Amino acid sequence: MDFQTSFFTYCPNCQSTDFSFKNVTKFQCNACAFEYYHNIAAAVAVVFTFEDKILFTVRNENPDIGMLDLPGGFIDPKETAEEAACREIKEELDLDILPTSLNYITTSPNEYLYKNVPYRTMDLFYECPLTNDKLSIKAKTEIKDLVWIKRNEIDLTKIGFVSIRKVIGEFYLG
Ligand SMILES: [Zn+2]
Repeated sequence: MDFQTSFFTYCPNCQSTDFSFKNVTKFQCNACAFEYYHNIAAAVAVVFTFEDKILFTVRNENPDIGMLDLPGGFIDPKETAEEAACREIKEELDLDILPTSLNYITTSPNEYLYKNVPYRTMDLFYECPLTNDKLSIKAKTEIKDLVWIKRNEIDLTKIGFVSIRKVIGEFYLG
């Protein structure tokens, strides 16, 4: 499975195999005219900073198990991006932050293969300066470890997602 391969074997509406799924974005069944748009999903990532260091999480599940990641996740329906960031930070690190403490950085597209379904996301990045580096993991099934890395010691090849690698590379390398 890759990001150009259909993950449907049959039309979900009529079970026909006569369909197109152009760029794995627009599914169109030739037998029953069913259409489905596999649109991108929105996600948030938070860059916590303390002195000259940045907080990374170590992923404890696929995709990219063992690779560096940032706290964050998918935005739920009806949430703002800032609300999603605060919720995810509470869920992952048991840390309360305010939407006003989030400084918008940029956006970057990502690909996220989960259980053989290729999701494409638009990741929204925020920076959040902290006054200390004492954090702990709450979501232990998702996060294996937390690591603070000095800007001039970041190894981009250890970062899993292309969106995070790009933003850290552009905005944070010492
Ligand atoms: Zn059909």
